[in-house]
Amino acid sequence: MNMNKASLEARHISLSYGSTEVLRDITLKIEPGEFFALLGPSGSGKSTLLRLIAGFNQHQRGELLVDGQDITGTPPHLRNVGMVFQNYALWPHMTVWDNVAFGLVERRESRDAIQRKVGAALELVGLQDYGQRRPGQLSGGQQQRVALARTIVIEPKLLLLDEPLSNLDKQLRVQMREELKNLQRKLGLTTIFVTHDQEEAMTTADRMAVLDKGILQQVGSAAGLYDFPSNRFVAGFVGTANLIDGEVVSAPGDALAFRATGLGELRFPRSDNTPAKGAAAMVFRPHQVHITVGDEQVDASRVWVNGLVESAEFLGEFSRYRVRVGEVAMVADQAHYAGLAMFAPGAPVRLGIDPTQVRFLDR
Ligand code: ADP
Repeated sequence: MNMNKASLEARHISLSYGSTEVLRDITLKIEPGEFFALLGPSGSGKSTLLRLIAGFNQHQRGELLVDGQDITGTPPHLRNVGMVFQNYALWPHMTVWDNVAFGLVERRESRDAIQRKVGAALELVGLQDYGQRRPGQLSGGQQQRVALARTIVIEPKLLLLDEPLSNLDKQLRVQMREELKNLQRKLGLTTIFVTHDQEEAMTTADRMAVLDKGILQQVGSAAGLYDFPSNRFVAGFVGTANLIDGEVVSAPGDALAFRATGLGELRFPRSDNTPAKGAAAMVFRPHQVHITVGDEQVDASRVWVNGLVESAEFLGEFSRYRVRVGEVAMVADQAHYAGLAMFAPGAPVRLGIDPTQVRFLDR
């Protein structure tokens, strides 16, 4: 199949329903061939944005460009954008083959072309032997592949997927994640998918946009967002984070002093991302915190605080501890191996934070 690779650009797009602003000044560029996720909690505006790209929603302000051309006024059927719906929307009374052929029949393509294209699409998704079945005779994962085949058969410029994996059970979801990614690579088609599941976005997408309350919070790769969140929302939504409020106070030399609320003053080496002075929040990940008992020899490069274990969760690969430090609760993960005893609730421990992994955010 002959796949296009289009770019998509949103410029200052806003959309309201009555007095409710659902999308606020969204500016975003998706590169040709990218596998791009729109990630955010329920109600953040992801589906509205996806439907807007498909042409089912209309923005009141801003421009929407495909390959540099404004498609704001173009009706959905002339956009050449393929969308796979969350429930797949297959026709139960039609065979798999007829479901996939439908869009081509509508476009009045020749019998030969239909034969060839449907065959190729079914082969791409690995369902070449299932053409005569009906959707009800397929598993959830297979139904989804039919929905995909039906969409890519029309050779769209953009492929849009609305929560593509949410209808599948957990195990299949992980397997389909991989399949979806491979298929997208094979097609090279610019693909935009909506998900509320950060793990799903992180494992499949090249880049993602995080949305909250209709506002674009940050765009980047999984590691980029995880390592360098630009605000509190992203820090908390992409992965698990320790977020501690406080104030940057002056410090001698190349040290930085952070007066953590409810905890006291901590000293860090100054780095590029440290704010000059004033209200801030420090962010670090649970696995960057070393947890140990008081008398163990400690790594002097870490910033150490004392605390009491509040709760412990054994998760197999690691154990997750909630530790009270002053008035603050910190989360620390400890990699697990057979024979490693866990700290019990109430146990006094020391937490060593790796200062190179701490980010400071303006509040
Ligand atoms: P998400 O996909 O992130 O869960 P949506 O884009 O579906 O979020 O919805 C964003 C917000 O817009 C929600 O608050 C929702 O209630 C509102 N909304 C969506 N569609 C409509 C509509 N047709 N009329 C009024 N409000 C809507």
